[in-house]
Amino acid sequence: MTLETLEKINNAVKERPQELADARRKGRKVVGWFNYNIPEEIIHALGLIPVRLGTGGNDRLVEIGARYISTKNCVFTRELVGLFAENQDPYIKNSDIVAADATCLQTYRAAEVIKHYFKINIVILGVPRNFSLPEGQEYFEKELEFFTKKLEAVAGKKLDTNKLAGSIKLYNDIRKSIKELYKYQAISKSTIKWREVFDVVHAGFYLDREKYLSLLHELLGELREQHGEPVIGNLNGDARILVSGSIIPPGDTKLINIIEQVGGRIVSDELWSGLNPSMNIEIREASIKGIADGYINRVPHAALPYLDLETDGRLKNLKRIINDHKAQGVIFHTLRFCDPFTFKASETKDVLKKEGIPLLEIHTEYAGSDLEAIRTRAEAFVEMIKNKEIQEVEQ
Ligand code: SF4
Repeated sequence: MTLETLEKINNAVKERPQELADARRKGRKVVGWFNYNIPEEIIHALGLIPVRLGTGGNDRLVEIGARYISTKNCVFTRELVGLFAENQDPYIKNSDIVAADATCLQTYRAAEVIKHYFKINIVILGVPRNFSLPEGQEYFEKELEFFTKKLEAVAGKKLDTNKLAGSIKLYNDIRKSIKELYKYQAISKSTIKWREVFDVVHAGFYLDREKYLSLLHELLGELREQHGEPVIGNLNGDARILVSGSIIPPGDTKLINIIEQVGGRIVSDELWSGLNPSMNIEIREASIKGIADGYINRVPHAALPYLDLETDGRLKNLKRIINDHKAQGVIFHTLRFCDPFTFKASETKDVLKKEGIPLLEIHTEYAGSDLEAIRTRAEAFVEMIKNKEIQEVEQ
């Protein structure tokens, strides 16, 4: 069974660069953003067009980026700088201003480099390290006020409470729909794969957000017709894998391809380019404070330090997604020089071991020299999960 809406979404993404160029000719402004905690609600409510920047998997761009930023930064950051250096990416070319938040300090450094070398107009949103304390939360609110003022100057208007309420509702609906899509891909004999859902999430980085929501509703309607309400029950003999760890942005298919080739079925992710931005965000009021509280209290990114494993929201979120999607093993993707996730790998493995969930860390970058080594390890991991399931069924 095919899903016609997937084709529509693909076509909409192809047409998007031209749409953006046309919108800019008519006076609209585009805000390209990267990193992990930019509240798009504010950009959207100001009548600006948000697009999320950054791609992966391109060693040529990594090499170009490394002429400007240290090779001791992760490849995602180096590729990001390479994209700006080359200036061919349609979303970068169409950005009037670039917004970046300081969640991960490597991308914060990338923002400085981009501003310095390529004279890009950048607005930075500070993110506190002590994010769980009242002082940190107060700091974030002040930072968001400052950030909003900068964007108001770009938009030529003040933030309007009613418009903000509308944008909050729109983004809440998008997040809810994405969570629903993730349920459908995880059911037995689903007509949509995780990989397709992941691509749909990436389409949302670029498309007009109202149009995107309507396409999500259409896609969910198709799935409802084919499957009814999603019930994640029968494991069906699949080796059900959850992918977590460092970002896997559009274009980086290395690990995903390998997992699929060795017979693993990805049933979910805990990635900041996947499901995570849709998890646990509750905006209680249409104000800068409401947005600040919602974002700072959501699932913490691994780049924000938190040392108590018992109360760590990142681990709680990971366990919840594993349970919700009935994953049997985690492949934890860490990019070389991505300290935020690499340092979390071993503690994550220990915590999940207590729950009976095995974790395989794959430490890699975009070059293909380690492909066969990764394939061998992934294959053994998938086999181990399949055998474990057979043993459990036999007992
Ligand atoms: S979190 Fe890791 S992958 Fe993401 S930008 Fe920071 S160092 Fe790179």
